[in-house]
Amino acid sequence: MMVLVVGGGPAGMMAAISAAENGNKVMLFEHNEKLGKKLFLTGKGRCNLTNACPPEELFDNIATNRKFLYSAFSEFNNADTVAFFSGCGLRTKIERGMRVFPESDHSSDVTAALKRRMDKLGVKVRLNTDVVALKADADIITGVIIKDGKDRTFIPGDAVIMATGGCSYPSTGSDGRSFCMLESLGIKLSGLEPSLVPFGCDDKLITDMQGLSLKNVKVTVSTGKKKVYEGFGEMLFTHFGLSGPLILTASAHVKEKDYSGGIKVSIDLKSALSRDELDRRVIRDFEENKNRNLSNSLGKLLPSKIITAVIQKTGIDPAKKVNEITKQERARLVDTLKNFEVEVSKNRGFEEAIITRGGVSVSGINPSTMESKTVKGLFFAGEMIDTDAFTGGFNLQIAWSTGHLAGQLGKER
Ligand SMILES: Cc1cc2nc3c(=O)[nH]c(=O)nc-3n(C[C@H](O)[C@H](O)[C@H](O)COP(=O)(O)OP(=O)(O)OC[C@H]3O[C@@H](n4cnc5c(N)ncnc54)[C@H](O)[C@@H]3O)c2cc1C
Repeated sequence: MMVLVVGGGPAGMMAAISAAENGNKVMLFEHNEKLGKKLFLTGKGRCNLTNACPPEELFDNIATNRKFLYSAFSEFNNADTVAFFSGCGLRTKIERGMRVFPESDHSSDVTAALKRRMDKLGVKVRLNTDVVALKADADIITGVIIKDGKDRTFIPGDAVIMATGGCSYPSTGSDGRSFCMLESLGIKLSGLEPSLVPFGCDDKLITDMQGLSLKNVKVTVSTGKKKVYEGFGEMLFTHFGLSGPLILTASAHVKEKDYSGGIKVSIDLKSALSRDELDRRVIRDFEENKNRNLSNSLGKLLPSKIITAVIQKTGIDPAKKVNEITKQERARLVDTLKNFEVEVSKNRGFEEAIITRGGVSVSGINPSTMESKTVKGLFFAGEMIDTDAFTGGFNLQIAWSTGHLAGQLGKER
């Protein structure tokens, strides 16, 4: 069979390898000048390529449509990913949270390993080649139209694997245009939304704290009266609002429509202490600073960048002497430390989203093969499918697993 793979990201490269290993002739099209532009950025340039959790725990880390991934993960799980890369000469290591990275700490080595395997299998890679249309006859795929410089050319194929990614970080090449091609073939899509995305906030009190990083805080996110997320870890204040691992994970629990109603982020700045323990701690600090202003007495308890905001939220005069602070005022201070509230009104959009939620609707894809239920010979892999995961290497695992399964076409099952 002649298999055409559209997209040279992780899912496309894995699909091409899998299809070639199954005896197919494979041609891969990538409109960038190089393969894996987004892959290069992953894990801050180190590529957290999967997670070494027990395979059954993979599902707990899928945010959307986890059941759909059952076959893909059964065929090719996280252990298979590590074994696959080891077979390509890429050594890996496990870090905090069971995150798996290349031993070299270079994401470029992941792409290089995939490229070596593709070369060995004879996959023909065409860079700087935009696929602009898909061709089908009586709902059977017949090939693609490519734009290579000025020319448009029809390339015939027995199967097409679409692995063109979502809409996030569009500068990397996954700009979402491919979804229009699919719509013209009647493929059903689910609404596209940014996810694993920083939160925007218009409150100057918050944005003035830019650069402040908080570790070991508990964050609770509510939309309206509903609590949608509670997590513990590290977060960051930025010039636009809130970011950092905890906030990105929280964003995966918030739908786009929720932003218009306002989102409340409550930060427990002293999550290791109960309310009573914290109160006793404050009393101790006040004892030591009894003749100082409130604003000068919280330095042991809090990072300096957040002191102004905390005091402002309590409504206590920052110039008030500590020994004049009433019991009620101290209670307000403890309340604020346990529940530092930030109103979020937006997210930072696809430009800064780690992943896209939504995409090709799973109801239109056979989960055992990744083939479209309506267009024969058309397969899907990676982020373009309506499934997404939390941070920790799980999104790339989706790309490897679905790419591998989509490439199994033509194999006797
Ligand atoms: C900053 C950042 C850090 C991340 N870090 C991690 C991490 O550490 N671990 C993790 O698990 N996940 C991480 N992710 C998510 C991960 O990168 C994606 O889930 C993954 O890249 C999706 O792979 P994909 O192959 O489906 O899509 P993509 O990587 O987006 O690849 C799609 C490819 O298709 C090409 N293409 C699109 N349309 C066409 C067309 N019409 N013709 C030809 N080519 C086309 C694009 O140029 C692109 O190269 C990160 C994402 C970002 C943005």
